[in-house]
Amino acid sequence: MQQQGKFILMNLSEFEDYMHNLQIYFTRKINHLQHHHTHVPSYKNFDGKNHFARLAAMERYHVQNNLGQIAQHYTTFPDGQIAVCRSLSIIPAGIKRHNTGGICIENIGNFDLGHDVMTNAQRESIIKLTALLCDKFNLEPSLNSIIYHHWFRQTDGVRDDAGGKRILENHKTCPGTNFFGGNTVLDFQTYFLPGVQRTMSFLKTHKEPVLMKGRVSVSQLNVRKGPSKSFQKIEAIMKNTLVSIYETKNNWYRIDKAKWVYAEYISVERQSKAYQR
Ligand SMILES: [Zn+2]
Repeated sequence: MQQQGKFILMNLSEFEDYMHNLQIYFTRKINHLQHHHTHVPSYKNFDGKNHFARLAAMERYHVQNNLGQIAQHYTTFPDGQIAVCRSLSIIPAGIKRHNTGGICIENIGNFDLGHDVMTNAQRESIIKLTALLCDKFNLEPSLNSIIYHHWFRQTDGVRDDAGGKRILENHKTCPGTNFFGGNTVLDFQTYFLPGVQRTMSFLKTHKEPVLMKGRVSVSQLNVRKGPSKSFQKIEAIMKNTLVSIYETKNNWYRIDKAKWVYAEYISVERQSKAYQR
C-alpha cells in the first residue's frame, strides 16, 4: 500500500482488506456503480510505476474542467492495482445528470475495439472491486445497480440503452466497445454480470458469521492479538467505531482475524446469530 496526498494505491488483496475495514460515516445513499474507461491516459501512457503521476494529471485535467477535484472514486490500473481517489461521501462527476447515489470507477485504458486489450490483472481487479462494492453497499448486481456510461445520452443524460442493440450516435463509447466483450446492456449481461455474481457468492460463502455488532465506548480502545491483556497490542480504535464481533472468550471479543478487544468497552447494538456483516 502506498499513499501520495489523498491517493491511496493498493494491490487487490490490500484493497480487499481495506474495504473490509472501511467504516462508513456518510449518509449519502449509494444506489449504483458507474464503469468508465479513461480513453486517455491509455496503456501507452502507463509505464508500470507512474500510477501517482497519472492520477495527478487526471486531477489537473478535471480541475481545469471545473470539477473541483478528481471526478472518480476509484481508478483501476493495467497492473491490477486500485487507487482510492475521491471521498465516497461526495457524489462523483461521472455521468451527466446521473451522479446522485453513484460511485464512479475509472478504468485506465482505451477499451474501444482495436485499441488496448485489457490485462488479466485489471480484469480481475475490476470484477472484484465491483463485487466488493456491491457487497459493502448491499446492491444486488443488475442493469440498474451497475451501469456503463455508454447507456446514457451525452446531450441530456437520459438513459437510452437501445435494449442491447449497438448505439452509434449521441453516446460516448465509454467504457469501450470491447470492455469485457462490449458496451451494450446485452454484452454486460453476457460477459460482465456473471463474473460479478460468481465473485459475490464466493465472498458470501467465505464470510464468517457475525455474532453481534457494537460500538467502542471509551475514547481509545486497545486491540490485542489474543483474548487477554498479556497479548501484544496491535492498534487502538476510536470511540463510537462500529465493530463486528465474531467470537467471545473470557469477556473478550474477537473483532477480526486475531484482533481482540476487552468486552466491557464495547456497547453491543444488536444480538442476532443470523446477523451477517
Ligand atoms: Zn465515461
